[in-house]
Amino acid sequence: MTLAHIVSVSGGKDSTATYCRAIERGLPFRAVAADTGNEHPATYEAVNTLHLKTGGPKVEWVKADFSRQIAGKRTFIERKWEEHGVPADLVSRALAVLHPTGNPFLDLCLWKGRFPSRKAQFCTEELKINPIDQNVTRPLLATGATVISWQGVRAAESEARKHLPPFQRIGGQHADLPGRLYVYRPLLRVESVDEVFAISRRHGVDPNPLYGWGLKRVGCFPCINCAKAELALVDQHFPEQIERLEEWGAIVSEACKRGHATFFNLVNDPVMQAEWLELERIGKALERFSLEQFGIRRMVEWAKTDRGGRQYSLLARDFSTVCNQWGACE
Ligand code: SF4
Repeated sequence: MTLAHIVSVSGGKDSTATYCRAIERGLPFRAVAADTGNEHPATYEAVNTLHLKTGGPKVEWVKADFSRQIAGKRTFIERKWEEHGVPADLVSRALAVLHPTGNPFLDLCLWKGRFPSRKAQFCTEELKINPIDQNVTRPLLATGATVISWQGVRAAESEARKHLPPFQRIGGQHADLPGRLYVYRPLLRVESVDEVFAISRRHGVDPNPLYGWGLKRVGCFPCINCAKAELALVDQHFPEQIERLEEWGAIVSEACKRGHATFFNLVNDPVMQAEWLELERIGKALERFSLEQFGIRRMVEWAKTDRGGRQYSLLARDFSTVCNQWGACE
């Protein structure tokens, strides 16, 4: 029986410590990372240099490709949008931008005609889980191998993670394949963040510099679920990332049937939400929507305030989504 150990790496503290734990176990393993196209350069650097610092295996990148879905959406728009009453100018604007850019995050949003949100968090599955599954896990299972997927999750992080077992058989979507898939969570009982960093330091790996800037999580930069204070930090230290999101907001809005799309859900800011509800009440929401009023710049301005007297977070405290339960987004 072939046994394949696969460690998912994101450039964050937990997955890096998991990679180091795999080295300590002395087992041969492969390390994989999913390129979302929305990572900070420091994260690419951290992932790409991990093998040089530790002597472990080089991390293999996988990347989603939405060319086929975008082509399908073009066909659908050409055939159906006008039939569904979408104004002709919106149809031609959508067709003008609906071409693959090669950036997985942007292409996913072009295909969907919207950005992901906490309630519709399709990004994790489409950008991280599926590309690793299709490019690494499924091909191994197709050979009859037993695959052990190492995931850097800790019970102390959330209520949902507290109940996860350290070792778990995963069936379901791979039932058609001869191999067997298990998940192994070697950090489950590691209590503190300091302990996590200490594991990596034993192997000469310093924390991703983004933690030094005050960011609590490393993954997409920023994540759609980032905390209010983190968004303010991104703007303060990396304004070019906000510019990029502003451009993405304009492009994805063109591909949207409603004519607008925002990276962050505007309900995060009570003031913006009230303005939006008022426009809806008077029946002018679609007509008067503008990215100046509801887009990323406005959200950044809100992120710098204590508006409402609370340090309100875009990120719920117990971030118990499927992706984070599986350690796909740190
Ligand atoms: S890090 Fe955030 S934006 Fe990126 S895939 Fe995960 S949930 Fe989505």
